[in-house]
Amino acid sequence: MLSGVSPYPGGVEDWKGCFIMAANIIDGKAVSAQVKAAVAAETAELAEKGIIPGLAVVIVGDDPASRVYVNNKKKACAAVGFHSEEYALPADTSEEQLLALVERLNQKPDINGILVQLPLQEQIDEHKVIAAISPEKDVDAFHAANVGKIMIGDFDFLPCTPSGCMDLIHSTGVEITGKNCVVIGRSNIVGKPMAMLLLHESGTVTICHSKTKNLKEICKTADILVVAIGKAKFVTGDMIKPGAVVIDVGMDRDENGKLCGDVDFESAKDVAGFITPVPGGVGPMTIATLMRNTLTAAKVQHNLK
Ligand code: NAP
Repeated sequence: MLSGVSPYPGGVEDWKGCFIMAANIIDGKAVSAQVKAAVAAETAELAEKGIIPGLAVVIVGDDPASRVYVNNKKKACAAVGFHSEEYALPADTSEEQLLALVERLNQKPDINGILVQLPLQEQIDEHKVIAAISPEKDVDAFHAANVGKIMIGDFDFLPCTPSGCMDLIHSTGVEITGKNCVVIGRSNIVGKPMAMLLLHESGTVTICHSKTKNLKEICKTADILVVAIGKAKFVTGDMIKPGAVVIDVGMDRDENGKLCGDVDFESAKDVAGFITPVPGGVGPMTIATLMRNTLTAAKVQHNLK
């Protein structure tokens, strides 16, 4: 028999008394519920001061996935006690028209956060629209001013998905300081800010991408592995260090059209110490952190932060 203390986080004893890996499943729904409850409690306190955080969500066209996201954001606003406004524009909206709406929302005092649902139609330059949002209402934290603030570690908002990933890592109790952290993916909305947040918490961070050589070997060094590439079940159990924390950002479809992540959950769960499922992992965190950012925006704009 072994000592009863697993050498791996999440390790359990099998029938022979040997430790085997069986990952703890990180429950994104539970963690996101905690975040939303904290936001709702603070919103109730602000309401006593006569302040109701307001979020404007702008959607152009009728993409079904974007429509689902927008509806979920509106529902989440109602649940935490925010004021929300939806601006649904036709698919042939011009860049000038969208920029004019953003400018109007920048000036609207009861709106603290502006979210323009991406992707946008080809006649609209996404970068120009993001640049037009007032940085203090940029609750997605995509504006260059907010990206720069994240870089220097002096920020009000964090981009919603990486911020949610950090909450999930914190929920495991695993210390980030000094750990080998590997992020696969270098997009502006997930990979790059994720790497920066891990660095701010003193992780030793490696960023991988499509040109990375020896990806498997690098992955195997990761105590904390964050995967954001958009390829179904790409990371398999043999690429994971035993006991690692595995955060799967991917939202993909498998060969049967079923929602899955970038990590092959079945093979990874026997190796990882902690792992997020898809669905039910990172996904629910993104809206919860959007609510947190909108609350922060309201506090900053009322000089309460
Ligand atoms: P993206 O902009 O397409 O970026 C993908 C990244 O993955 C790129 O940096 C790319 O490298 C890298 N990559 C692609 N193939 C690779 C390979 N074979 N090996 C190593 N790296 C590879 O995607 P994204 O916007 O970051 O999103 C990534 C995934 O997260 C998608 O599935 C998306 O749906 C999901 N997502 C989920 C949420 C959520 O709320 N759960 C939010 C945002 C995104 P290069 O730069 O070299 O091309």
